Amino acid sequence: MSSNRGLLFIVSAPSGAGKTTLVDRLVEQVRGLRISRSYTSRTPREGETDGVDYNFVSRARFEAMIARNDFLEWADVFGNLYGTCASDTEQLLAAGDDVVLVIDVQGARQVRQRAGVLTTVFVMPPSFDILEHRLRSRSKDSEDAIRRRLQVAGHEVAAFSEYDFIVVNDELTAAVDRLRSIVLAERARLTHMRGDVEAIVRTF
Ligand code: 5GP
Repeated sequence: MSSNRGLLFIVSAPSGAGKTTLVDRLVEQVRGLRISRSYTSRTPREGETDGVDYNFVSRARFEAMIARNDFLEWADVFGNLYGTCASDTEQLLAAGDDVVLVIDVQGARQVRQRAGVLTTVFVMPPSFDILEHRLRSRSKDSEDAIRRRLQVAGHEVAAFSEYDFIVVNDELTAAVDRLRSIVLAERARLTHMRGDVEAIVRTF
């Protein structure tokens, strides 16, 4: 029971804050919520699959997409390009799906300027020490890369006040519950429900 067009959500978090696991759990639990798969010029990590984790494309292809204005937003993160394809997202929204973009702070700023109705969530790690521990235990990256990610994380967490909602990822299940509550509350807003509710009122 909702108006036809889907709602748009953004989830941002510093790398290592656990947002991928969180958002994967979220879309498993909430029917009608889809992740818009990003494009990236970075090479796949072990265990990542093209067309599942990302659309992995060459830098040249990514730059051609920028030139064609294909992206709703794009950003250079850690020297690689990442972007959200505008028509992919639009197709999902037009079909009535709610869509979540898992993008960085720079991308979120661009979408805020371009998109209409939008709900943004920042996922906070519980502390710097815990983020550092998570990044190291994941140990997919070199020491240099970890240091760089921690430095960027400092700038990202400082942008928390640009977001509508904050979820501290202290414990996975509790954090997923909080994220789910945000999505469900946004779905219940009068602005979103008005059409359906007017139809109910007309039956009286
Ligand atoms: P990773 O390489 O670890 O998968 O992602 C690195 C960073 O890029 C993360 O902060 C992630 O949120 C961000 N990212 C992933 N996809 C996109 C995208 O489409 N646009 C933007 N702006 N950032 C993205």
